[in-house]
Amino acid sequence: MLRLNELKLPLNHTEAELPAAILARLGINADELLGFTIYKRSYDARKKTAIVLIYAIDIALKNEAAVLQQHHHDAHIMPSPDTSYKFVADGAAIAARADFQRPVVIGIGPCGLLAALILAQMGLRPIIVERGKIVRERTVDTFGFWRQRKLNPESNVQFGEGGAGTFSDGKLYSQIKDPKHYGRKVLTEFVKAGAPEEIIYVSKPHIGTFRLVKMVESMRENIEALGGEYRFSSKVTDIEIEETADGRQVRGITLESGEQIATNHVVLAIGHSARDTFEMLYERGVYIEAKPFSIGFRVEHPQSLIDTCRFGPNAGHPLLGAADYKLVHHASNGRAVYSFCMCPGGTVVAAASEPGRVVTNGMSQYSRNERNANSAIVVSISPEVDYPGHPLAGIAFQRELEEKAFHLGGGTYNAPGQLMGDFVAGKASTDFGAVVPSYKPGITLTDLAQILPEYAVTALREAFPAFDKQIKGYFKHDALLTGLETRTSSPIRIKRRDDTLQSLNTKGLFPAGEGAGYAGGILSAGVDGIKVAEAVALSLAAEKA
Ligand code: FAD
Repeated sequence: MLRLNELKLPLNHTEAELPAAILARLGINADELLGFTIYKRSYDARKKTAIVLIYAIDIALKNEAAVLQQHHHDAHIMPSPDTSYKFVADGAAIAARADFQRPVVIGIGPCGLLAALILAQMGLRPIIVERGKIVRERTVDTFGFWRQRKLNPESNVQFGEGGAGTFSDGKLYSQIKDPKHYGRKVLTEFVKAGAPEEIIYVSKPHIGTFRLVKMVESMRENIEALGGEYRFSSKVTDIEIEETADGRQVRGITLESGEQIATNHVVLAIGHSARDTFEMLYERGVYIEAKPFSIGFRVEHPQSLIDTCRFGPNAGHPLLGAADYKLVHHASNGRAVYSFCMCPGGTVVAAASEPGRVVTNGMSQYSRNERNANSAIVVSISPEVDYPGHPLAGIAFQRELEEKAFHLGGGTYNAPGQLMGDFVAGKASTDFGAVVPSYKPGITLTDLAQILPEYAVTALREAFPAFDKQIKGYFKHDALLTGLETRTSSPIRIKRRDDTLQSLNTKGLFPAGEGAGYAGGILSAGVDGIKVAEAVALSLAAEKA
């Protein structure tokens, strides 16, 4: 196979124009082309009236060597890299040993899901413990919160089968370095579980929330068929650590029911909201440090405004879908303000997991056809300056802000909101404008400046007008701000060794995914799950020797 990159065609090109362009680019006749597949398709919309599709194509040829030789100076033509996934250990042989102890995966979000799947595919029969419920029951609880204000602290947007990404936009891209093509393995497994095939090749794939629910179920069936075992409503409340001559070694976990599971290998994929578990790990002496994260608001605009600004006359084209955006502003007080987790054609969701606290996030369906675009607009904060003194101080800071949001919203799980123009002008809002809020259970209009630190308010007030230079119309008086975004990423890092991926001071503990500070999104969490599953398998294999 040969890879041809940067093949550009107009947005409205016909099906026949793609093979014709391949032949022309390679300078070959039609009978030399055996077949081709699209590896990636992206677009360049810088010229709105002449949007261009950019392809990377894998091509089968009668005489590949000759074509490669002919184009050996062309940086865009090369042998296709091998992106197939290869297992790192003979799991069946390890599992057949008399002293084999099954690895445990804590948390079945994207990270735990991919870790469990790889372990199961290797024949290592993982035990998966998840504090929340199976995804269908969890869906009932989550919608119950949004509609009836009844929060179940163990079954909500953050906790339960599928993890935090289940009720989401299902964006499946990331900027991580991925030399081993693990991202492709994640996407391939998602397609096997029911995701649309296009996620493999479009540059910004997304699947929306309903499909995610079905995929998570299908992956569970697969893992169980391979010998994995799930325990739901099984919160891990303690971890057994033995002090050995070689240092600290995990020996098992305890569930809330009191049940203990003996194991030497624990994948800790608990997400960024497992605050009680972070506290337990800290008390057990697991090395944890504070890390930076960001705080701010969800912002809603009409999707049509974003579409027109990004795509001009091509707005609404089926290959482009609802437009997204990415914004950054470096404020004069030294703070970076940026857009995060943008959800085109989606809704703002109540993402709290603790009673008496309000947190926002965003989600969408596959069609992305809701009337509003929403995105978090957040300000970077760091432990050195903003929450110094203790590894868990970021959690206390988050809680304080989320409580303020709850009270400012009226203490009913309504979120506090404000029109963008009023926020910048420093006056409380009293009426909605043309932007109809999507947040359920509801919004209480107020003055949002009361709940964020002064530096964040100053930076945001500067950023919104500045963003108007990047997206004309962005600084819109009645664009709606909803508060608060506090869980943009984990406030801690459970540090691990670069070589073995085990906790810095506790062997057998594999901190993974977003909660441990090693991922930020569904795809990167899945990729980290694969890496950690491999590290577990290699550690188990080494035990034999
Ligand atoms: P999580 O998904 O948080 O999973 C952790 C799991 O561990 C949970 O199921 C939890 O119940 C369980 N757990 C925690 N503590 C314990 C315990 N003590 N015992 C047992 N189980 C425990 N990312 C994107 O890339 N694209 C998006 O479009 C997107 N949209 C989002 C929308 C929303 C509403 C939210 C909340 C997040 C969104 N994200 C999105 C972020 C993404 O969901 C996370 O980055 C990702 O889920 C992190 O994966 P994870 O497996 O590391 O952790």
